Amino acid sequence: MSTADIGLIGLAVMGSNLALNIAEKGYTVAVHNRSPGRIDEFVAEAKAQGLDGKTIPKYDLADFVQTVKAPRSIIIMVKAGKPVDDMIEQLLPHLEPGDAIIECGNSLFTDTQRRFDYLKPKNIGYLGVGVSGGEEGARHGPSIMVGGSKEQWHNAEAVLTAIAAKFNGESCCAYLGEGGAGHFVKTIHNGIEYGDMQMIAEVYGVMRDGLGMTAKECAAVFKKWNEGPLNSYLIEITGHVLDAVDAESGKPLVDLILDKAGQKGTGVWSAIAAQQMGVPATAIEGAVAARSISSRKDERVAAEAVYGKPNRAKTDVTLEDLEKALLAGKIVSYAQGFAVIAKASEENGWALPLATIAKIWRAGCIIRSRFLDQMSSAYAKGEATNLLVVPDFVTIMKDSHPSLRKVVAAAAVGEFPMICLSAALSYFDSYRQAQGTANLIQGQRDFFGAHGFEIVGRGTDLHGTWPSTLGK
Ligand code: NDP
Repeated sequence: MSTADIGLIGLAVMGSNLALNIAEKGYTVAVHNRSPGRIDEFVAEAKAQGLDGKTIPKYDLADFVQTVKAPRSIIIMVKAGKPVDDMIEQLLPHLEPGDAIIECGNSLFTDTQRRFDYLKPKNIGYLGVGVSGGEEGARHGPSIMVGGSKEQWHNAEAVLTAIAAKFNGESCCAYLGEGGAGHFVKTIHNGIEYGDMQMIAEVYGVMRDGLGMTAKECAAVFKKWNEGPLNSYLIEITGHVLDAVDAESGKPLVDLILDKAGQKGTGVWSAIAAQQMGVPATAIEGAVAARSISSRKDERVAAEAVYGKPNRAKTDVTLEDLEKALLAGKIVSYAQGFAVIAKASEENGWALPLATIAKIWRAGCIIRSRFLDQMSSAYAKGEATNLLVVPDFVTIMKDSHPSLRKVVAAAAVGEFPMICLSAALSYFDSYRQAQGTANLIQGQRDFFGAHGFEIVGRGTDLHGTWPSTLGK
C-alpha cells in the first residue's frame, strides 16, 4: 500500500538526519539503504526520537518504491559519483512516468545536468538539490538549493520547504532553475565557504604570530566580532574552536591540531567553473591553493629549513583593522561568487534569481551571515550584478578597504602568507581602476603573435611595426 509522502534512500549521516527532519515535520517517509544494518540503526534512532510512527523502513527496493504515493518523490542521499548513477539505474525499472528522483548529495553540476537530460525522455523528473548545513542542518533545517524538473519540484515543494531552515519565518529553500542549476549554486556556495574560512585563518595567523595572542584571547575577539557586521556562523564557530581545551593536555585544542586542511572537491569545481566562464574568482582560487599548500606539510618543513623561520616582528595592525579587512575581503569574495553565478545563469539559460539565492543562504547553511540579508535586499532592488558597485556595499567598502590594504601590506612586510585577502585586495584594485595596464599586454601579444589591438578613435585589429628579434 502506498502510504509514504516521500521516499529516501541512503541512511548515512545526511540521509538519516534528513529523514528524521521530514518525519518531525509530520510527513511520512519511507526509507531504504543498500546495507540493511543502517536501516536497523535508523529504526532504533527514529524510535528513540519518537518519530517511528512517521517512518517506514523497507529492506527491498521494489517494496520501498511501492510504499511511496504516486507521483513519487524519491530522495537519494548516497555517496556522490558513480553510486548515484548506479542508484538511478536500480530505481528506473520500478518507477512510473511522472515520478521524480531527487538527488541531494554534493554532485558535480555537469553530472546532474547529464542525469536530468537522460531521464527527461523517459518522463522521469530529476531534481539536483544542494543541501548545506552539515549533519546539524540536515536534522534541524538546512539551506536547500533546488534545480531540475520544475513540474516534479511542485510535488516535493511542501516537504522540502517544511524541512528547510527559516529566516524571519521564510523558508531557506527555493527552486532556482532547470538541470544542474541547484548543484551549481551549491558548488559556488562551497567555494565562497572556502574563501570565508581561509580569510578567517589568515587573520587568525596575524593575531597568533603578529600580535602574540593566545587561542583564548583570539576566541574572545571572534566572539565579539560575531556581535557586529561580521556576524555569521563561521565567525561564531571560530570562537568556539579557538576556545576548546584538549582534555588530555589541558592545552588549547587548536594549538594541537595539525595544520593540514582537507578538501573534497567543491572548491576546485567552483574555481574551474569560474575560469571556464572567464569570471575572476580569485578569493576562491586562493582558498583552494592555500588548502593545497597546507596539505604539503613535509615540503613546507623542508622549505623553512632552507629559508629560516619567517621574520615575524610584531605588527602594528590593530584588531579593528583586522575586523574591517575581513569584512572587505568577504565582500569582494561574495561579489566574485555572485558574478560567477550570474554568468553561469546567462550561459545556461537558467535565469538564476540572485536575490533569492542570497535569501536562502541567510539561514541553515555554512556561510549564513548577517550581510547576506543586505545582499538579498540589494539584488532585489536590481541594482547591479557586481556587489562592489551596489550603493550599500560601496559605503562599506569605502570604509573598510583602507584596513584591508593596511593588513595586506603589514602581512607582506611581516612575512605572513595572505593568499586570499591579498587576492581580494588585488581584485578590488583591478576592478575599480578605469585605466589598467593591459595596453602593454596587447602590445606584447601583437609583437609575438600579431593578435592586434584597439586604439580608440582609430579602430580595432590594428598592428604595430615591431623590430625583429629573430637571431638575437
Ligand atoms: P556518504 O557520502 O558517506 O555515503 C554513504 C551512503 O552512500 C550510504 O548510505 C551508503 O550505503 C551509500 N552508498 C555508497 N555507495 C553506494 C552504492 N554504490 N549504491 C547504493 N548506495 C551506496 O554519506 P553522507 O551522508 O556523508 O553524504 C551523502 C551525500 O551528501 C554525499 O554526496 C555528500 O557529499 C553530501 N553531503 C554531505 C555532507 C556532510 O556533512 N556529510 C554535507 C552536505 C552534503 P551503505 O550503507 O550500503 O554503504
